[in-house]
Amino acid sequence: LIVQKYGGTSVGSVDRIQTVARRVAQTAQDHSVVVVVSAMGKTTDGLVKLAQEISSHPSRREMDMLLSTGEQVTIALMSMALQEMGQPAISMTGAQVGIVTEAEHSRARILNIQTERLTRHLKEGKVVVVAGFQGISDREELEITTLGRGGSDTSAVALAAALQADRCEIYTDVPGILTTDPRIVPKAQLMDEITCDEMLELASLGAKVLHPRAVEIARNYGIPLVVRSSWTDDPGTRVTSPPPEVRPVEGLELVRPVDGVEFDRDQAAVSLLRIPDRPGIAARLFGGIALQKLNVDLIIQSIHEANINDITFTVTHNCYKRAIAVADAILPTLGRNNDPEIGEPEVRGYDSPIAKVSIVGAGMIGRPKVASQMFRTLAEAGINIQMISTSEVKVSCVIDANECDRAVAALCQTFDVL
Ligand code: ADP
Ligand code: ASP
Ligand code: MG
Repeated sequence: LIVQKYGGTSVGSVDRIQTVARRVAQTAQDHSVVVVVSAMGKTTDGLVKLAQEISSHPSRREMDMLLSTGEQVTIALMSMALQEMGQPAISMTGAQVGIVTEAEHSRARILNIQTERLTRHLKEGKVVVVAGFQGISDREELEITTLGRGGSDTSAVALAAALQADRCEIYTDVPGILTTDPRIVPKAQLMDEITCDEMLELASLGAKVLHPRAVEIARNYGIPLVVRSSWTDDPGTRVTSPPPEVRPVEGLELVRPVDGVEFDRDQAAVSLLRIPDRPGIAARLFGGIALQKLNVDLIIQSIHEANINDITFTVTHNCYKRAIAVADAILPTLGRNNDPEIGEPEVRGYDSPIAKVSIVGAGMIGRPKVASQMFRTLAEAGINIQMISTSEVKVSCVIDANECDRAVAALCQTFDVL
């Protein structure tokens, strides 16, 4: 069984739907195939625009009602194209399949997928064409929900997990996953292979080639995932998973926001205090640090006073002395404040051991509460936070290294990752 997903550009016109249908029909000659499709071309953007013309604050419920129509057009046309080629096919909405989600409009997570009807159609030799991006709420009201922009990828991978498919193929308008967005950097290199963990970081940082939740499900269920071009036979990029370990129990999409708690207690910090605020300061400082091949981890720049900054960075403890030396050497080149009230620039080192504790997980995307839960947990344990750094999929806090073990234990408890 193979799940194939075709994105908006790939089904952007009748011609393209026919091209894609030929590939599907060919695959169906020796596999069961479930096809997941997006709305045609820029349909979803167009629907968003229509809504904005009518209302400046459309309700999320009505937005879901509206946006879910885009995929419904594609499934019908794709199914017709397949039937026209003599390939038996049937189209199904998310609700008809039984893609059950949280009752959270516009960004619902998939909880489970009922596979009975789908499996029956597959057994009848039909290609099942499923509308991506949409589901039905788990409440009695049977509300139509959507999974967040770009969510068709997640529909496909979740179906592959529920059906225990042999693999999930994501067909799109680029040859695979590249080192960066090829629309912006045409020379970006195609990767043959990338791990789910790396892909998760990329996806969360904005590489929309894969929806982050799709990567999360592929990783948790060990689904072989391929991203490749809709137009060529090139193999594309394999997104590899670690050996299957713990399976999420609560729902198909990990309802738990945090996957793991990590720590690094071998850190030291260096601050440059009260330095003039002008272009090139960070470049000069970290250029010097890089020349010494010192590995900087967190960098935090903050405003000390108007036109005056503090920069603090952390390095591994064995680099501490060299980092101080670089900072000392660069300090005189950064200029003076000439203000007795503020004082002159100064290097300050924090030699006493510090640790960085981090929580990591794609489940925290769009859930700002998770960071505050982390801070509350540390506060309740009486642990002082010295620095904070965040990305979409992680929050890191620098604390006293002596408190590291307690912090990790408390965070594991709070986020239920034991
Ligand atoms: P689809 O409609 O097929 O889901 P998307 O537009 O959602 O396609 O995602 C594919 C797009 O992602 C590409 O056209 C490309 O511009 C963009 N992109 C961003 N970063 C990357 C990357 N690292 N590798 C490949 N594509 C990327
Ligand atoms: N059509 C939806 C969107 O444009 C979902 C998708 O294409 O994945 O966001
Ligand atoms: Mg997409």
